[in-house]
Amino acid sequence: MRADDDETYMRMAIEVARSKGSNPSTSPLGCVIVLDGKVIAAERNQTHELPDATAHAEMMAIRRACEDTGELELRGATLYSTLQPCGMCTMASIWSKVGRVVYGAGKDDVHPMYFEARHVDTLGFIGDAYRDDIVIEGGCLADECATLYYGPDADLPKEEQANL
Ligand SMILES: [Zn+2]
Repeated sequence: MRADDDETYMRMAIEVARSKGSNPSTSPLGCVIVLDGKVIAAERNQTHELPDATAHAEMMAIRRACEDTGELELRGATLYSTLQPCGMCTMASIWSKVGRVVYGAGKDDVHPMYFEARHVDTLGFIGDAYRDDIVIEGGCLADECATLYYGPDADLPKEEQANL
């Protein structure tokens, strides 16, 4: 897929992330899944609304894409996420058989509150997967995506830090 296509779909993911406001304390994440040039899912994280701790944008999008296609596997699909997927969502990407994960802001571009572990590298999950037909690429519209979140050095009260 061409780089300008990637940016088009990432812009869509940013719009989805902003769809219910852009307060960084609510972790506005957007995820779009594209298969054969068609958007088959576009979801925001919905952890508070449902409430469901597993309702990250990527998890919701994978569920929606499988519902819509009626397929367990999403081979050939590209998953776009405004933020580097967490461990859960990276593993879900592997299990769902998407072929490509493209994210915007990386772990180092945002506050640690958006991630579950200090040193786990989700890029390593992909590199270490049994599958050799999945790739992950970061940095697509990274600066624009990073504006959705608290910066790496933001001084946050503990109650705003969702991962503690
Ligand atoms: Zn996640």
